[in-house]
Amino acid sequence: MTENSPDSPTERLGVVPDAGSSGVAAGTRQDESALRPVAEHLAKVLDTIGSIDPIQLTLLDAQGLLLAEQIISDRPLPGFDNAAMDGYAVRAVDVRQATDDKPIVLPVVGDVVAGARSVSGMGPGLCMRIMTGAPIPPGADAVIGLEDTDRGVARVAIHRSVRTGESVRRAGEDLAAGAVALGPGAALGPQQIGLLAATGHDRVLVRPRPRVVVISTGSELVDLNRIPGFGEVSDVNSYMLASAARDAGADAYRVGIIPDDHARLLDVLDSQLLRADVIITTGGVSMGAYDVVKEALGQLGTVDFARVAMQPGMSQGFGYLGRDHTPIFCLPGNPVSSLVSFEVFVRPAIRKLLGKRNVQRQSLQAIALERMESPSGLRQYRRGLLHREPDGRYSVSLIGGQASHLIASMAASNCLVIIEEDVTEVVPGSRVTVLPLMLAQR
Ligand code: AMP
Ligand code: MG
Repeated sequence: MTENSPDSPTERLGVVPDAGSSGVAAGTRQDESALRPVAEHLAKVLDTIGSIDPIQLTLLDAQGLLLAEQIISDRPLPGFDNAAMDGYAVRAVDVRQATDDKPIVLPVVGDVVAGARSVSGMGPGLCMRIMTGAPIPPGADAVIGLEDTDRGVARVAIHRSVRTGESVRRAGEDLAAGAVALGPGAALGPQQIGLLAATGHDRVLVRPRPRVVVISTGSELVDLNRIPGFGEVSDVNSYMLASAARDAGADAYRVGIIPDDHARLLDVLDSQLLRADVIITTGGVSMGAYDVVKEALGQLGTVDFARVAMQPGMSQGFGYLGRDHTPIFCLPGNPVSSLVSFEVFVRPAIRKLLGKRNVQRQSLQAIALERMESPSGLRQYRRGLLHREPDGRYSVSLIGGQASHLIASMAASNCLVIIEEDVTEVVPGSRVTVLPLMLAQR
């Protein structure tokens, strides 16, 4: 396939081939010595990540998302004056003199149950038995709880006085009709979903979950239905990163494995652009021959391959594909590198697409339980085990070595220890910054 044939994948990706390009991947020509600081690469990513158009979702599907509209209540909450407890609806003035020693006895002229659609009025000197949530009968202005009565059916002895309005839930005392229930940007947790249900909203406009497509590249990869033969490796990354994307709030789609083949890669990317809000590839971005992601996408000119001053995860690709300028992250293939890269760059991008203000995971300070070394000029992310000491402080030890193929040690870790660029040694007892990771709770 030639680059300029009408339906070449690059054209379908919505990229105008660079006529002046020598055909050498732009990314492979870049200055090897200059490393881009992590913060700068992250800023490049976040500065260009836009937003996704809001969509209507049903209440339960909207859980965890941010509201993209103002919700006005068309009704008061509560909708009508009702009883706050089981007891008797009375006029406060009628029982003003009631005491334990001298109870006041009133005729009970009826029952009002929750769900009563109409309630007759109640004359002076009378009372009605009433259940929690039942409408206050016209004429009554207070409720006396059962425990302050003899629980009579035809007549009831009332043992204390009540204030006007006592144990009455007033219509609109929670929210007035026409008032703002929730504003744009409100995060929809169970409490907010409860309020939306109370105001009768079964669908709401929200910032949607980004659809994140995860693609593993590598001719050595096999899917889980096959036992890897000699030289083959089970695909870890698409499963791991799809679950990480979900954890970040995205809808994740795992696309199968793509071998190290330009045309196949471009074809699959082209077809995935239809549904993806974000594409993640792993593998094929380092300096080796057959690093096809870098070779193929570097030529397009819309994906930038950089060497970032971090370890692991030094090789990073980020850019845009297709007519909708879909962001694509090309992460390194080593599983630990890909997960660290996801944490550092992709997770914040997903959070930004969700409209979240806090795109970063909350870091914390912990006491280093052991000596840690780190190369100068690189920000190191080490797998760690974070403990909470009895005094409430955190401490952290390292798990596994520095190599980024160690999947078992990654699974044993619960955090990343961040050793800043200018720190080459952390002595035991000093403080380090720790990023607690996504953990399924026991
Ligand atoms: P690459 O970045 O393509 O050079 O791959 C670096 C290392 O990561 C190689 O040892 C690959 O076999 C391994 N690797 C790449 N992709 C995956 C994957 N999806 N699952 C497990 N290992 C992978
Ligand atoms: Mg590879």
